[in-house]
Amino acid sequence: MNIKQNIATKNPCYTCGRTITVKGLMIHSVGCPQPRASVFANNWNNANANVCVHAVLQADGTVLQLLPWNRRGWHCGSGSNGSGNNTHIGVEMTEPDTIQYTSGSSFKDLNPAATKDFVAKTYRTAVELFAYLCKQYSLDPEKDGVIISHSEGHKRGIASNHGDVEHIWNKHGLTMAQFRRDIKKAMGGNTQVGGTAQTTDTTAGNAPKSVSKGDTVTFTGGPVYKSSTAAQATVNKGVTSKCEVTAVNLKGTHPYHCISQDGKGVYGWVNAESVKEVSTTAGNAPKSVSKGDTVTFTGGPVYKSSTAAQEATTKSVSSRCEVTAINEKGTHPYHCISQDGKGVYGWVDKTSVKK
Ligand SMILES: [Zn+2]
Repeated sequence: MNIKQNIATKNPCYTCGRTITVKGLMIHSVGCPQPRASVFANNWNNANANVCVHAVLQADGTVLQLLPWNRRGWHCGSGSNGSGNNTHIGVEMTEPDTIQYTSGSSFKDLNPAATKDFVAKTYRTAVELFAYLCKQYSLDPEKDGVIISHSEGHKRGIASNHGDVEHIWNKHGLTMAQFRRDIKKAMGGNTQVGGTAQTTDTTAGNAPKSVSKGDTVTFTGGPVYKSSTAAQATVNKGVTSKCEVTAVNLKGTHPYHCISQDGKGVYGWVNAESVKEVSTTAGNAPKSVSKGDTVTFTGGPVYKSSTAAQEATTKSVSSRCEVTAINEKGTHPYHCISQDGKGVYGWVDKTSVKK
């Protein structure tokens, strides 16, 4: 397996910056006979795209990563129990050009031997990627609801009604149960791997956009790169370290240049999700928002309750709002009402609010 970063920086999933606490991984199959991951990557790197998965993988072991793993993707829609987009990383497997879809998830197989070979190889790539992600997020692949297919997500009420991945795996004797077992095996039976402390939600009081040159931050572990746009990491540092941010390139995939101030040896460009803000000059501490405050809603989802799994609407406006209620324990802690006629009315995320 070879993970290449190909971040879809134009996709709204990336630009709106919402993050999730990763609780599981959802496997998809693209549903069209296109073996090349780059076709999907290019398609979704678009400001008008209304879909984005975290990665697309192909038979030769290539994985194109389109979103930071803890960004909120749009890969599975929703069901009666909410949306897997709020909890699961979504990964698409490409499909061979030796099949021809007839209707829905039914297809004709034009070259069964080639199809079988292709499917076996994408399966292998998926096992390796999922084992890697399970280690990174300390997930047990055999725990109920952690590793699911899109169609299993639908049965659990957290995804739209699609037949992937079983529609193609079933024809080749592959099952989700086997997949989960193979992932566990690939992890060496070990689900607890220290190092990358990325299991926590980075939204909390921690908007990487406001990190500036000269800030002191906590590097929480992860890959370190020679440049802000490098495809491949020079090293993976499994340490927590107080660092100074010595340069920022927000257009880079690895936007912050960090240097350890505590001798832990971090030196290089790192991803936004590897960084937690400690001190900043920007006057933007959402924790100090109180009921009755006037804040700027900077755009994002609006919810019916502070704990709703799914947004009622997404407002892409900037609006002066009054905070009319607070529930710090909610995922969307502030109830905001527009004071400028821009129509924001409901519970919003911390990251959508600036004081
Ligand atoms: Zn799907």
